[in-house]
Amino acid sequence: MHTIAIAGNPNAGKTCVFNMLTGMVQHVANYPGVTVETKEAVVRLGNEPVRIIDLPGTYSLTAYSADERVARDVILQENPDLVINVIDASNLERNLYLTTQLMEMGLSLVVALNMSDVANKRGQVINVSQLARLLGVFVVPTQAHRGVGARELKEACLDVLRGELPSRPKHVTYGHPIATLVMQLADRIRADPNLAPAYAPRWLAVKLLEGDPEVLERVGREAADFRPIHSALRAAKRELSEHFREDAATVLAEARYGFAAGAVRQCLEFSRETRRTHTDMIDALVCHRVIGPLILAGAVLAIFKLLFLIAQESAWIPWLGGQWFSPVGAFEQFFAWLGSLLTPLEPAHPLLHSILHDAVIGGVGGVLNFVPLIFTMFVLISILEDSGYIARIAFIMDRVLKAFGLQGKSILALIVAGGLGGGGCAVPGVLATRTLREEKDRLVTILVTPFMNCGAKLPVYAVLIAAFFPHSRGTVLFVLWLSSWCIALGAAWLLRRYVVKGEQEPFVMELPPYHLPTLRGMLMHSGRRTWLYIKKAGTIILGVNLVLWSLMYFPRTPDLSAEALAKAEAGPEAEAQAHLAGSAAGRFGRALEPVSRLAGFTWRENVALLGGFAAKELVIGTLGTAYAMDARDAAPARGLSSMLQRDPAWTRRRAVALMLFVMIYAPCMPTLITIRKETRRLKWALFATAYSTALAFVLAVAVYQLAGLLGWGG
Ligand code: GDP
Ligand code: MG
Repeated sequence: MHTIAIAGNPNAGKTCVFNMLTGMVQHVANYPGVTVETKEAVVRLGNEPVRIIDLPGTYSLTAYSADERVARDVILQENPDLVINVIDASNLERNLYLTTQLMEMGLSLVVALNMSDVANKRGQVINVSQLARLLGVFVVPTQAHRGVGARELKEACLDVLRGELPSRPKHVTYGHPIATLVMQLADRIRADPNLAPAYAPRWLAVKLLEGDPEVLERVGREAADFRPIHSALRAAKRELSEHFREDAATVLAEARYGFAAGAVRQCLEFSRETRRTHTDMIDALVCHRVIGPLILAGAVLAIFKLLFLIAQESAWIPWLGGQWFSPVGAFEQFFAWLGSLLTPLEPAHPLLHSILHDAVIGGVGGVLNFVPLIFTMFVLISILEDSGYIARIAFIMDRVLKAFGLQGKSILALIVAGGLGGGGCAVPGVLATRTLREEKDRLVTILVTPFMNCGAKLPVYAVLIAAFFPHSRGTVLFVLWLSSWCIALGAAWLLRRYVVKGEQEPFVMELPPYHLPTLRGMLMHSGRRTWLYIKKAGTIILGVNLVLWSLMYFPRTPDLSAEALAKAEAGPEAEAQAHLAGSAAGRFGRALEPVSRLAGFTWRENVALLGGFAAKELVIGTLGTAYAMDARDAAPARGLSSMLQRDPAWTRRRAVALMLFVMIYAPCMPTLITIRKETRRLKWALFATAYSTALAFVLAVAVYQLAGLLGWGG
């Protein structure tokens, strides 16, 4: 016999729905063993006998009150085949809070949207099919006291019980880092042979994080092995309280309120009801169709300004700004000083000197120089995240991004990767896609995230802009920023059409209540992301640098071309250049030259771009070597700029083609590793490399050739 349980807030109309379904009540009884009244009846639905249980009315399923505990325990013990969630339509948001918890329990669900007459009278029009799509369950409008909707509700229940109507409730996505912790804990639970079949692992994970004492006791009793779960739980709780300085239960409740608020905003088409809370009032403005985007533009502009104020003036394009103290400048000077310590080594051990000076200090230092900028950027982003505003950005941008095959939440990944003009990093960007539930949306987001102008691409732009566009720096940077977005959105659109096909499903965009970000949370968040960047410098970049260095250093007795030999006689710098031309990397670059010429790249750019496959930070350093820069110059980039400027072979269109290519081509090695990890497929990492390099080449050639035809940029 099937069992149906009726759940809902007090006074939502559960008893009326119960009577409406049972008609003649055959059996009414107090639920055995509990003091709170629970009615139960056996009726015929279709041709089958079905047991219907009327649960006590509750606002939530936490363990705070006796009613809630009874409702929850009945659900756990009876394990109903279906739950009818009676919702008071005139109080949609508050009622949906319970719905989020029912959805999380992994139960089959049908929503009775009751009191629809009251809602209508208040001027509220609810888009029922939209609500159904958002929740992933069947929604039937009812007026239970008059029996309106009885037939539809019965039919919906029967269809679900017979398995004819899919009812796959969606669940709340908790933002970063809760989502990850819930997932990890749920994985532990899923691995337990006793718990996995009995409970929805995700629900159990959430309950454990909330600190529900009875659930904890239950898990302790029933788990085959409690220890791994317990230690994962302890670690998760510690991380949560460190991050939010609030207990986990509050944090999770807020995420659910965010879900309810977001759902209401997406399906309440018209409402005369006056708004109540601060969050509601702010949202009325911030999510407004016209004012919202204006506020967003203002916020982005403010971040730009703030970032530049903190990091740029004398920092991120150090040779453009004044001589003020800047954190980036201090890092640069430190590494230059470190390099100069090695000078005595050079005459006696040129090889060792070259390894330490060029590969180790040069490579790692070039990356670490950008740490202050990256950190500042991440602090600003975490303010957006922790205050709750980023959820509103996702909300506002969802419609636009959907048109391109992404979704509102993709915006976080794109922003973290450098979408606000530069200074991000694609590695945490790809990790940020974890809050996207839909696998296809997530994959597309991952594949376009590396197009953003991350901190590593900025030095390339800075050098070329200083050389060729000294009077329109801001404009060119703006165009580059705009291009990165156009390319990311265009690529997303194409990928959706031809590679990652499939319909986009609607889902709730959570609107959690606003918060003042805590200093601690901000620092932890940004610190962790910056650490990923630093780690990259010390591991992958260092390693690849050594490989590249040797490719550029050996073989030492090269088959120097006549041109190179002529130059070699001209001086020590030209000699170094001649050596590079004859090295393995140099030969590779020269072999590619016939093709790369189409985009205006010589073998020197080819070698530099080869380095950039490992990490874009390496492009400028390698280019400097290729142009025989004096490596002892404290700010080699500045020298490179003026050298390129004086070189008659270098034109503006060549510079533009190179910047475009660097923006688009293959994600760096750490990003590829992250893509492989996050998609669990090597295929996608390889695909990302191939398609973006192809795209980069096509666009660079197009721009270079077109500019040539039009006679622009020399
Ligand atoms: P419960 O606490 O969830 O069991 O709610 P009840 O079924 O006892 O209903 C509470 C009150 O709401 C009763 O006075 C019902 O007559 C009334 N009610 C139930 N459904 C509707 C409805 O759809 N429209 C209106 N206007 N009133 C309803
Ligand atoms: Mg009742």
